[in-house]
Amino acid sequence: MEIKYCWRCKLKVPMLDKEEFKIASKLYSKALKNTKSNKQERFQELLAYYNNLTGFAETEPNAIMHHAIEYYGPDCVKCGKPYRTPKANICAACGNKREPNA
Ligand SMILES: [Zn+2]
Ligand SMILES: [Zn+2]
Repeated sequence: MEIKYCWRCKLKVPMLDKEEFKIASKLYSKALKNTKSNKQERFQELLAYYNNLTGFAETEPNAIMHHAIEYYGPDCVKCGKPYRTPKANICAACGNKREPNA
């Protein structure tokens, strides 16, 4: 888990690493298959997992599903915001060009 700026939420949120996100994805698809209970109950396990891990109080399951470190690039050396995608060459926030090996 790492705190990173999220371009969609426009704030800093706890992003999950590969292993953590794998578990979250499993809980998410498990919840989707469960059609019996209401949305809050269905996603209870996912929200509890994320909130226990991060100390956050997330209530929106869909927000968690884009909070994966692997979806974003490294943090920009100039402004500290992550590149929008792992392949982005220019920082969307400050226009800083990415170093070839950074
Ligand atoms: Zn977000
Ligand atoms: Zn930047």
